[in-house]
Amino acid sequence: MQDSSPEQRPGRVGVLLPLPLAGAYDYAVPPELAITLGDYVEVPLGPRLVTGVVWSAGSGEVAASRLKPVARRFPLPAMPEVGRRFIDWVAAYTLSLPGQALRMALSAQDALEPLKPVVGYRRAETPAAEVRETPARRRVLTLLADGPPRVLAELAHEAGCGAAVIRGLVDAGALETVLLPAEAPVARPDWQCPGPALSPAQAEAAETLREKLAAGGYSATLLDGVTGAGKTEVYFEAIAAALAAGRQVLVLLPEIALSSQWLDRFAARFGVRPAEWHSDLTQTRRRRTWRAVATGEATVVVGARSALFLPYAALGLIVVDEEHESAFKQEDGVTYHARDMAVARAFLGGFPIVLVSATPSLETLVNVESGRYGRIDLPARHGGAALPEISLIDLREDRPERRRWLSPTLTAALVETLAAGEQAMLFLNRRGYAPLTLCRGCGHRLHCPNCSAWLVEHRLAGRLQCHHCGHATALPETCPGCGKAGLMAGCGPGVERIAEEAVARFPEARIAIMASDTLIGPLAMAELVRKVAAHELDLLIGTQVMAKGHHFPMLTLVGVVDADLGLAGGDLRAAERTYQLLHQVAGRAGRAERPGRVFLQSYMPEHPVMQALASGDRDRFLAQEAEERRALALPPFGRLVALVVSGADPEAVDKVAQALGRAAPRSADIDVLGPAPAPLALLRGRHRRRLLLRAPRSCAVQPIVRTWLAAVTVPNSVRVQIDVDPYSFL
Ligand code: ADP
Ligand code: ZN
Repeated sequence: MQDSSPEQRPGRVGVLLPLPLAGAYDYAVPPELAITLGDYVEVPLGPRLVTGVVWSAGSGEVAASRLKPVARRFPLPAMPEVGRRFIDWVAAYTLSLPGQALRMALSAQDALEPLKPVVGYRRAETPAAEVRETPARRRVLTLLADGPPRVLAELAHEAGCGAAVIRGLVDAGALETVLLPAEAPVARPDWQCPGPALSPAQAEAAETLREKLAAGGYSATLLDGVTGAGKTEVYFEAIAAALAAGRQVLVLLPEIALSSQWLDRFAARFGVRPAEWHSDLTQTRRRRTWRAVATGEATVVVGARSALFLPYAALGLIVVDEEHESAFKQEDGVTYHARDMAVARAFLGGFPIVLVSATPSLETLVNVESGRYGRIDLPARHGGAALPEISLIDLREDRPERRRWLSPTLTAALVETLAAGEQAMLFLNRRGYAPLTLCRGCGHRLHCPNCSAWLVEHRLAGRLQCHHCGHATALPETCPGCGKAGLMAGCGPGVERIAEEAVARFPEARIAIMASDTLIGPLAMAELVRKVAAHELDLLIGTQVMAKGHHFPMLTLVGVVDADLGLAGGDLRAAERTYQLLHQVAGRAGRAERPGRVFLQSYMPEHPVMQALASGDRDRFLAQEAEERRALALPPFGRLVALVVSGADPEAVDKVAQALGRAAPRSADIDVLGPAPAPLALLRGRHRRRLLLRAPRSCAVQPIVRTWLAAVTVPNSVRVQIDVDPYSFL
């Protein structure tokens, strides 16, 4: 549909600003400005100019004579209506202000301003008859003889001369200047590139997705299949079909900065890399990509959750890969789950969304069961590669030596694998050397001063660190508790300590650690991934950054050092998440012709999660898990909203928390737990209390929470953070 000019109130518009304001503000439209809904404009706000988006025809509350005028309109396609509706929807759902949601859509500074064309140099069309030649001049002229025009700095660099040489050639009439577009064109993925020959199951799955695209309209489909089943190739076909239809495509990946292999595969399939969107981009790339998405030049965007809020001109397909990943949950600012918001975006836009996983979330499976989502199964591994055999190691019997963490069985398997010239991986989802340091004399534990958390020793970096606030300090020589020297000792292992054990046991092996703090940035990650793939390493020891989609043909053994780690704590999804993570880790083993083996070290091998992993009976485990949640009316069978009250002054925080507790909505099917101290009762120096509202799934919780909050006055020193559908309970 075409956006119409806001005609109901001539001469005025409502402009939404990316600020925590309750709604759009009215502005006057100067007669010389042609303005439509969705236009990006600059308006005065107090003494400054602020960029916003024309959101409405204006409320009419302020008299026309008192309105300030819109200062200017940016020369850009207007934000489409669906984009604006999406922002309003996200704000309403997450109980945020629309301006806070808009802020996520205006995340590239100065992207609204077109860059000025730059001056380029080329050979004069009618060169001057006589030009004095020097070696430097000759190099410049030769370079330009068969190359495109270049900007001054580039030309001087390539020709190895100074700028004066080039200016001299212009003066002499041998070169002339041209205006070049400031921005290089965005490369377009070519959907006509041939893909691989698909297996019959893949071909059928791809056909189903193509039919959904061709049919038009919203649909949500789960693409379910074990790691290596060939799901990526299948959704590449859907991407090709969407591109053929002239639509834009968004692929959400949980950790795009770490997904170099995925980008390479995309390039192999479509000729070029897609546009990327994540926090690691330079400012120049951000603004370029933002604009290219707005103009429709960028046809495929792959990104982290924030890519949802780009100003797509013609979005027509979303793929959420690893849809079960908790990394899709944004925990700061506007708290939202990118998978759920992506479904809403597809619904509003009237186009298909594909959710992809080997271990789908219970949320998604319940939607499949109720018929709201479709489902496509890819049953086998592509090319018949066998799934790894998963064995449990009972640590109560198969005991590691004192101050060691690898059991005899796992150690023996490592010996075999390395002797066979194959690769192995040890997984422990804990960074650093030791998660707790205590005094062997008095038992004093080293705490973070700002958080209720222990300090984690990072031996490689030579310090203790808080994983919540980043506080870092040197390991004390003497115990801060009893003052005795030489008694501080690390308890329990992190990956660095496992690496120490591995080096001691396998001195010949080439060993590397893969954890977010040992890899600085995506390049280091890509380099390490390359080394493993090229078999320049024998043993990889890592945290969950290693669990993601990498494909290592020679990797045949995976050992999980502490499979129980994720099960502790009060998270309602602990079992589900542990299953998902360990399943994914296990999937790294034996992805090529060589069969893989996986060992899970556990103190509770009888736990349903361990049993499900060992037997491979995912669906039975999930059915049990679903029954438990249904019985307790927990998600996805009920709804939760968490309120976290925080502030520097514990009394002020308690006062607000108690007032919220007294004002809490209670009815036959709504209850509120708390207030109670949060597990992280102190975080970055702020005291925290939690309340948790539980309601039936059919209940619209937002108006209830809004009324609840309106009943309590909150001083400026205290913050109440609202988390609809919480995933973190810390
Ligand atoms: P998933 O996404 O389900 O984990 P992938 O799509 O990554 O699976 O496929 C696993 C491996 O099999 C990859 O190396 C991929 O290149 C290969 N593969 C998948 N489908 C085909 C195909 N039809 N032809 C050739 N290779 C394929
Ligand atoms: Zn801290």
